[in-house]
Order: sequence, then structure tokens, then C-alpha cells
Amino acid sequence: MNIILLGPPGAGKGTQAQRLVERHGMRQLSTGDMLRAAVKAETPVGLQAKAVMERGELVSDDIVSALIDAELAALDPAIGVIFDGYPRTAPQARSLDELLASHGRALDLVIELEVNEDALVERITGRFTCAGCGKGYHDTFERPAVDGVCDKCGSTEFKRRPDDNEETVRTRMVEYRAKTAPILPIYEARAIVRRVDGMADIDAVTAALERLIAG
Ligand code: AMP
Repeated sequence: MNIILLGPPGAGKGTQAQRLVERHGMRQLSTGDMLRAAVKAETPVGLQAKAVMERGELVSDDIVSALIDAELAALDPAIGVIFDGYPRTAPQARSLDELLASHGRALDLVIELEVNEDALVERITGRFTCAGCGKGYHDTFERPAVDGVCDKCGSTEFKRRPDDNEETVRTRMVEYRAKTAPILPIYEARAIVRRVDGMADIDAVTAALERLIAG
């Protein structure tokens, strides 16, 4: 199965994608994660993307589509993919159609996580992850059982994304509304869009996603 998870920043796409990976052996392809890795490694793509990401604007379509192309080329077509944070513009949606076809895949579902935007700033500005295993936490909603120690791997190092500040989050939301939400009709015309209440608790959202995947 190949699925797109769509929703504004903070809707829970990354969290839910990680859970589906653990339960179904699918592969999460997050252009945000790929770009952050490129920034960290100071590759040419990373150097180009860094300032754009810090402002909360979108990196060029060609760059992100090339990243997805490389990942799909290296992946067994029998392994299902969850696209998280891609596509984000109409040209990216068109590229994805071409890339899927050229790698012997078809798009099965586009799942929109519906959220109340007012709640997103608090969700995003409070979030942090374990530097060791990547498990996500939140200052208010999901603290480690022992402060400063990761529940999953025991690491004592955590990190926060530089773009998870209020000003950048607002720009990211404007970008989502202006450029990403308008791609939904492309998929609605194919009758593959499903909606899930992204304001429900994390387990309930996962359960709803599981039902959609089970068909
Ligand atoms: P994310 O982790 O999905 O929230 O992405 C973080 C940032 O990376 C975004 O605010 C953009 O600057 C950039 N980015 C990630 N995915 C894309 C994409 N598909 N198209 C353009 N920019 C992207």
C-alpha cells in the first residue's frame, strides 16, 4: 500500500507514520526528515535548504522530488510507503504520480488529518524528540516517565527542531493553506481521500488509520 498523510504542521503525520511503520513494516518517507539530515550533513542540498526551512517556507519542488525519487529507486516495490510531508504543492503531486508509475507503484489512499489550527501552535512549540532513537515527546502532553531519560532507549539527550518556534510555525501554516491544501481536489477527483479527526488522542487516531488501511 502507498499512502499520503496530509495535514498542517503539527497534525501528527510524523507520529502516526512512525506507528504504521512499526505495525505494518511500511516505510516512512518524510521529506522534512531527509532535508534535516541534509542540513546536518551540510550537503549541497542541505546548504540550499537551511535558511528556507528556518523561515518556514517551502524548499524547491525539484529538490524534494529528487529526494523522493532516490528513496523509491532504492526500495523494494513490495514494501508499502507512507509519504509524510510530501507532496506539498501541485507540481510535487504531479511529480509523485510520475515517480510512482516509474517505480511500479500506485497510490492507494490520501489521508487528511483534520485539526483545529489554534491548537497546533501549542502542539508544535512543546514538542521534542529523543536524540538517540527519535521517539517524540511533548512538554505538556507526553513527558518521559523519568524526566530527562528516554522511555524507549534510555538516552538522556533530546532535541528540538529550530523551526518549531511560533513565528516559523505561523509561516508554515500559511504555506500549508496556500500551497498544500489546494492539492486535495486532485485526489478527491480520484475518490481516494479519507479524513481522520487529528484532534482525537494519539491512539484513537492510529486506530482510525488502521481501519482505513484494513479497508
Ligand atoms: P516537515 O518536517 O514536514 O514539517 O518539514 C520541515 C520543513 O522542511 C518545511 O517547513 C519545509 O521548509 C521543508 N520541506 C519538507 N518537505 C517539503 C516539501 N515536500 N516541499 C517543500 N519543502 C519541504
